Amino acid sequence: MSSGRLAGKVIVVTGAARGQGAAEAAALAREGATVVATDVRGGENVRRLDVTLAEDWADLASYLRETYGTVNGLVNNAGITWRARLDEITSEDMSRVHAVNVHGPLLGMQHLAPLMPPGASVVNVGSSAALTAHYPVAYTTSKWALRGLSKTAALELGPRGIRVNTIHPGFIETEMTASAAPAFRKANIAETPLGRVGLVEEVAPLVVFLLSEESSFITGADIPVDGGLTSHGGVKSVSDALRTEAG
Ligand code: NAD
Repeated sequence: MSSGRLAGKVIVVTGAARGQGAAEAAALAREGATVVATDVRGGENVRRLDVTLAEDWADLASYLRETYGTVNGLVNNAGITWRARLDEITSEDMSRVHAVNVHGPLLGMQHLAPLMPPGASVVNVGSSAALTAHYPVAYTTSKWALRGLSKTAALELGPRGIRVNTIHPGFIETEMTASAAPAFRKANIAETPLGRVGLVEEVAPLVVFLLSEESSFITGADIPVDGGLTSHGGVKSVSDALRTEAG
């Protein structure tokens, strides 16, 4: 059901060929936005854009300028993981992951912010890994860096009326999590107060809200969408243990 909350807005989504990005692009379009879906893979109705390449962003900015003259929103959703631990991670893999997860959103904001009018909104897709410790070193450090980048961007772009927020999904059922070991899924469910994984359809409405004028006084915020995963600081196992003991 659409209420047209985003009618007349031009919104770019990265990593929109599948997973959360595809669901976000569809949800934004349902609210009346003109969505420019992009992905390194390209595809039907998906414009090819590698977020790590400045020239791809420059091409997109020219296209947006010529076609619409403006851009009202950017969802920096593209991201990759690399599940190497502290003793295994290489500098090359650190750089590769940071190129996509940190430099990508930086390049996106640098190239598109000049086209944004007051009231525009940027959503950066972080992770529960940006709020706590997490075992994959490159992914965790990149998502913490993205939080810092988002807060700096909120500070820099606020005077122009542009908002920048970061959402932090917990375990969401996508191809990214499908590639993890079964133990990862099980342990996440055990640590999640709602006792289940999340769906892409449960993340997209938050992105719609942050792109809409309903969130007009929210910027620089970190918003988890994680079933409570990051809310308890590890005490869920304590609570669960006592509940079991009490019978
Ligand atoms: P996904 O792997 O299904 O989708 C990611 C998309 O990004 C893919 O379509 C891929 O082609 C694209 N992509 C990768 N590198 C790119 C590049 N250089 N340029 C442009 N596009 C690129 O994963 P997802 O679960 O939908 O992840 C979306 C975002 O959510 C990512 O930033 C991810 O880190 C974050 N996230 C996911 C979860 C989860 O549980 N799935 C949890 C927390 C955060």
